[in-house]
Amino acid sequence: MATIRSLSKFWALSAFAVYGWLRLKLTRSPTLIILTYHRVLPENSGEREREQPGMVISPANLQRHIKLVRSLGAVAVHLDEWLRKKNAGEALPALSVAFTFDDGWRDNYLHGYPVLRQEQVPATIFLVTGMVNTDDTFWPEKVIALLRTPGINLNDQSLAWLQPYLGDPVRKSTPLSLPEADEIVSRLKNLDDATIIQHLKHTSSLVAKTNDADQAPVILQHGELKEMSGENLVKYGAHTRNHFRLNRLNSKEALEEQIAGCQSDLEAMNVNSVPIFCYPNGDITDGGEQLVAAHYQAACTTKTGWNRASRNDFDLHRFNLHDGNSSTTRMLLATIGRSLA
Ligand SMILES: [Zn+2]
Repeated sequence: MATIRSLSKFWALSAFAVYGWLRLKLTRSPTLIILTYHRVLPENSGEREREQPGMVISPANLQRHIKLVRSLGAVAVHLDEWLRKKNAGEALPALSVAFTFDDGWRDNYLHGYPVLRQEQVPATIFLVTGMVNTDDTFWPEKVIALLRTPGINLNDQSLAWLQPYLGDPVRKSTPLSLPEADEIVSRLKNLDDATIIQHLKHTSSLVAKTNDADQAPVILQHGELKEMSGENLVKYGAHTRNHFRLNRLNSKEALEEQIAGCQSDLEAMNVNSVPIFCYPNGDITDGGEQLVAAHYQAACTTKTGWNRASRNDFDLHRFNLHDGNSSTTRMLLATIGRSLA
């Protein structure tokens, strides 16, 4: 049975890959594929042990993606320039590709930028402006670090808030595996971001002390932003001020802070920013959408698919890529093909 299952999986993957390849090859009217990445970490990076697998691409795979889309005839473009040309009615290639990176991870500079430079590929990084230049990190990474601390006592009083999200009680006394921790992060999304961050403030003493190398900032620092914008290869868009999911914010003031606040932060940073917003977690609400439209010229969602010229600029679709769904040419094409089917 297992053989039949893996064989049918193989053929399904191959069929979607061929389909994806054909759709990309045969497109005639101007089409934009936007690729989404988060973290760029080498295969042997220790940080992978504390990161959701769906967030990570290796530099080698990133480079493979660039070479593949080029071999299909796609032209690598700056997202804002494709939109400008489209709206001005200027000629566009049949197939364009825009590389985007969410959250503003420092590894984008350390491991992604060298690839982008070598290949001369433009990219947009969507920054969480309140995190830039800090030594902070996002709550999912803090939760994973906590749950994977050896000897962690999950019954500690400061973790009472976490109990309803832990699941299988048998596992509660041991440090959790990465997939187990990942699952708990997904469950925690039922809480709002500010609440989780508040709870985590009381748990830092439980997290294992890491070595010096691990103390380095994981979020982009100002000098790195400047350096990457120097050759105009990297531009910066908005991903809110604190990565709060907009559908979890109740007041207009809170929405304003995340959406308009991020815009003013970007301008104050004096880097080559673009007026493009990217919804954290893809969560959109009417109030948020209106504010985004008032402050930006376009917005990226987490909906999958490519963008024809007729696509609304505030509803841009993307393909989210990581090692798990695109580490071979066949997997990458299948990931694209599946969502175009
Ligand atoms: Zn994000």
